[in-house]
Amino acid sequence: MRPDIVVIGAGTVGAAIAYGLALRGEHVLLLDGDDGDFRAARANFGLVWLQGKGLGMPAYQGLTRRSIGMWRGFAEELEGRSDTGLCYEQNGGLAFCLGADAFEARQAVLRRLHNQWDGGEPDWEMVDRSGLERLLPKVTLGPDVTGASFGHRDGHANPLRLLAALHAAVIQLGGLVRSNARVNGIDGAGADFRLAIGDEVISAPRIVIAAGLGTQALARQVGLDVPLRPERGQILVTERLDPLLPLPGGGLRQTADGTVMIGATNEDVGYNLSTTGAAAAHLSRTAIRIIPALAGAGLVRQWAGLRVLTPDSYPIYTQSVSHPGAFVAVCHSGVTLAAFHAGVLATAIAAGALPDDLSPFHQSRFDVPQAA
Ligand SMILES: Cc1cc2nc3c(=O)[nH]c(=O)nc-3n(C[C@H](O)[C@H](O)[C@H](O)COP(=O)(O)OP(=O)(O)OC[C@H]3O[C@@H](n4cnc5c(N)ncnc54)[C@H](O)[C@@H]3O)c2cc1C
Repeated sequence: MRPDIVVIGAGTVGAAIAYGLALRGEHVLLLDGDDGDFRAARANFGLVWLQGKGLGMPAYQGLTRRSIGMWRGFAEELEGRSDTGLCYEQNGGLAFCLGADAFEARQAVLRRLHNQWDGGEPDWEMVDRSGLERLLPKVTLGPDVTGASFGHRDGHANPLRLLAALHAAVIQLGGLVRSNARVNGIDGAGADFRLAIGDEVISAPRIVIAAGLGTQALARQVGLDVPLRPERGQILVTERLDPLLPLPGGGLRQTADGTVMIGATNEDVGYNLSTTGAAAAHLSRTAIRIIPALAGAGLVRQWAGLRVLTPDSYPIYTQSVSHPGAFVAVCHSGVTLAAFHAGVLATAIAAGALPDDLSPFHQSRFDVPQAA
């Protein structure tokens, strides 16, 4: 099959776009690197999350709202096509507050976000300690917990199942997924893009570069400067526990199989994927301050992943001016944005042009002005 379009990078971002393109009748080839790559898609927390996002960037708040509005339909269709349950729940989500100052500060941030959005009735509320106890009847809260913000539209899903489902659905729709197919070079001089994979060359009229932290090097070859930086996040996982947390929290969520995920750190340590005792101690201490009973739960895993961040942490969606037909999609929160990527973004890429309302996400916002 000669592909209509090649998507480079089969993490959650590339796979969601490939799925959306395949749904629109495109012959898609989805290429992935190898186990030596940084793979945020296999390290994340699984939140499908709105509250607290987009301060100073209303377009990002809007994008996240759009994606969350589509998530239910996206999940149902994907589950049907892939025969894989995503464990998606959207019953709201909590950001726990420890101390009175944290409660005030959280409320202030969410108010500013609400004013920035001006979108009618708030879809969040601050709940005090007794309100939180009612939301979490099986939990005895630690003495420092003053309450939480409760985002009505927040939820969570199983991120590994999401990734597997996207790959399966691309194949079910007639696309091809290849792993261990690292693209070493892109030649965009002719009518087609020519992608070098070892000794092999693959040609296609359009490409999408969605290779996470591998994006920067590839994008440069189609005339795009895409500044990226890694940020390490470490996560702990407990043994399976009886149902305790009916709602996910920003740093604490119970999965469908009973384990409790605790995370994640935000560490500026470059391309370093090590786990550390200091992070384990910090995460455990915070979790126990919220729910002291977690002190009795055995930890079964700790891992680290690298977030894919632009300088302002917001996504980059762009098409190359020098090499039309070459698109770039890179972001943090690829789980939350998966419905948008498979829907609106894939439709635009299939049509050959990104809509004006995505212009705030062009990478030119990072261009340094030339000195006069
Ligand atoms: C600790 C942590 C917690 C997170 N929690 C959440 C959360 O709760 N909710 C949420 O929405 N998001 C979360 N995220 C973010 C989310 O994981 C990412 O946005 C998501 O994984 C998408 O990443 P990606 O597809 O861009 O990149 P990756 O998952 O890193 O995938 C990039 C892929 O590109 C491939 N590749 C690289 N170079 C090449 C090349 N030259 N040729 C071919 N293939 C190549 C790699 O092999 C890799 O598979 C979290 C991330 C981390 C690290």
